[in-house]
Amino acid sequence: MAVDLPAYFQLCEEFNSKQVTLVAVSKTKPIEDIQLLYEAGQRDFGENYVQELCDKQAKLPTDIRWHFIGHLQSNKVKYIAPFVHLIHGVDSESLLKEIDKQARKNNRVIDCLLQMHIAQEETKYGLDATELTELFPKLPNYPNAHVVGLMGMASFSEDKKLVRSEFNTLAQTFQTLQTFQTAQTLSMGMSGDYPIAIEAGSNMVRIGSLLFGARG
Ligand SMILES: *Cc1c(COP(=O)(O)O)cnc(C)c1O
Repeated sequence: MAVDLPAYFQLCEEFNSKQVTLVAVSKTKPIEDIQLLYEAGQRDFGENYVQELCDKQAKLPTDIRWHFIGHLQSNKVKYIAPFVHLIHGVDSESLLKEIDKQARKNNRVIDCLLQMHIAQEETKYGLDATELTELFPKLPNYPNAHVVGLMGMASFSEDKKLVRSEFNTLAQTFQTLQTFQTAQTLSMGMSGDYPIAIEAGSNMVRIGSLLFGARG
């Protein structure tokens, strides 16, 4: 399926007016699709797999801001550390520590989001409220892995009340984070639930299938 440019321009208009950053999730999609959206003006792209991200990064324009949105294993941080713009799914202190180490090796500060587990599904990753409140005071120990906010995924459900309450939980925890340090970014909302996420205070949405079509 082809890139839906009219949908893209419509989403841009909506998100610009609300000061929400659109991350175009291009996982599993070919270089040509990314190029098309790039030519339409998109610069923030999200990928879930390290190998795929590295292959695409090497072939595409250098001013693309690459977001790593998948589950990241510590032993793979080194491959993306030289260029990644924002790592969304930091779900352990040991991962944060490794990002800090690899960022320093590359003379960089890498921006990160801590992932909170807000969904009912066990399969989703992330830290719970207790783990987060224990980690917040330790963040200054990792100056090169700069935590700029939080990320979460709501339950994959038709139940809008449930999804709304999960996003509200994340938004409240984002407020708590800001009692420890300044934090700008609240990454929540995907193709199926972004309007609810924005209502709940999201300022970064990660959208794939609405732009690129369903993944096979
Ligand atoms: C795949 C993915 C998305 C995009 O999902 P769509 O439903 O296609 O918009 C967003 N966030 C994460 C973490 C993903 O893995």
